[in-house]
Amino acid sequence: MKANLLKLLLFIAVQAFAFDPPTEEEQIQAIGKILPTDHHSKACFSISKCFHPIPAPSPIDWLANVDEPGQTYEQFRKRNYPKPNEKKRRIYLQPIGVFQDHAPSIEDLKDYAELFFGMQFVILPTVRIDSEGIRSRTHPTQRHRQMYADDILRLLHRNKPKDAYAVLGLTMTDMFSGSKNNFVFGVASTSHRTAVFSFARNDPEFYDALWKPTYAPLVLKRSMRVMTHELGHLFGLMHCIHFACLMNGANHLQESDRQPLHLCPVCLRKLHHQVGFEIVPRYKALNGFFKSHQFQAEDEFTQTRMQEIELARISL
Ligand SMILES: [Zn+2]
Ligand SMILES: [Zn+2]
Repeated sequence: MKANLLKLLLFIAVQAFAFDPPTEEEQIQAIGKILPTDHHSKACFSISKCFHPIPAPSPIDWLANVDEPGQTYEQFRKRNYPKPNEKKRRIYLQPIGVFQDHAPSIEDLKDYAELFFGMQFVILPTVRIDSEGIRSRTHPTQRHRQMYADDILRLLHRNKPKDAYAVLGLTMTDMFSGSKNNFVFGVASTSHRTAVFSFARNDPEFYDALWKPTYAPLVLKRSMRVMTHELGHLFGLMHCIHFACLMNGANHLQESDRQPLHLCPVCLRKLHHQVGFEIVPRYKALNGFFKSHQFQAEDEFTQTRMQEIELARISL
């Protein structure tokens, strides 16, 4: 398979990279030029108190181990990455195996993704984990079942509906990719716009923590984060080094847990370029979702962003 595989691996640090957080000037440069007369874009894509700097990495964090080049809005725009269009207008979610017990609700994930990307999402009928040529193995030391992620990518590509911009496989079963890997959270093919990720390790019980009902929102939030991050890659967004952002790379679950669910102004402008949604109605819709799930920080973030944009609009 010639697909360009982005593998999300948890790996041991072998090399340390020095990362200098960007200056404000570099952040403004990454957002890119906005016409002085385009007041709305100026209000939507400016630095504000809502957007926090990217923190300096600890030795086990992503930026201490990966030499990320970053991607400005202008660099992104020049790539001319394919956009959704009339013929490729839907994103499909493909459940693989059953979602029960501690699994996040696929309906919730679908609702959230539709608001986040401003596109129609469709849930496909579940496929069995032992069907359609998906190989599996027993984990070498922990003895649980793992599916071969690359087989799932091939399956998603084979069965891709004609009007699909992208197809995402979701599973509660752990996965591996390649002979050396212990496990992968997910793999993606940017050339085929297919990805699969496992939520198995989002469940604290996977690490022997006794399940508590308070874990349910944590599991949902982790799943929302990984799903939108991976979909961001399928829209052509590379890892973000400009702000604390959904598109920051993560080397381990704790680092991922610290990262926000929202896009920084650079990445929001990229996604907006791809999809063309309305910024304030999108924040409003997301705010409704966060309120109904009692995600307080995200509720406040979207509320404050709407106020900031309104204030900027009045003062410009
Ligand atoms: Zn990523
Ligand atoms: Zn960003």
